[in-house]
Amino acid sequence: MRIRQDHGGVSTMNHRNSKQARYTVETPLFETEVWECMDTNCRSWMRKNMSLLLEPHCPVCHSGMQENIRMLPQVVHVAK
Ligand SMILES: [Zn+2]
Repeated sequence: MRIRQDHGGVSTMNHRNSKQARYTVETPLFETEVWECMDTNCRSWMRKNMSLLLEPHCPVCHSGMQENIRMLPQVVHVAK
């Protein structure tokens, strides 16, 4: 007996992507130093203050990364 492969179902994995769109216009943005992956196909990036490395490499594709400035919501550090 064959099991029919139906790809029309909604994958719960897709809901993770909606998290990025959660930032609204009301969120204040700040100029933030970031590292950006030099691979234009990858477009991975990280906040510079999250990495103490002088020359980090992309965690996704291991290409070199270059400095850039992005407008990002400020990270609030919650004291425990
Ligand atoms: Zn990359």
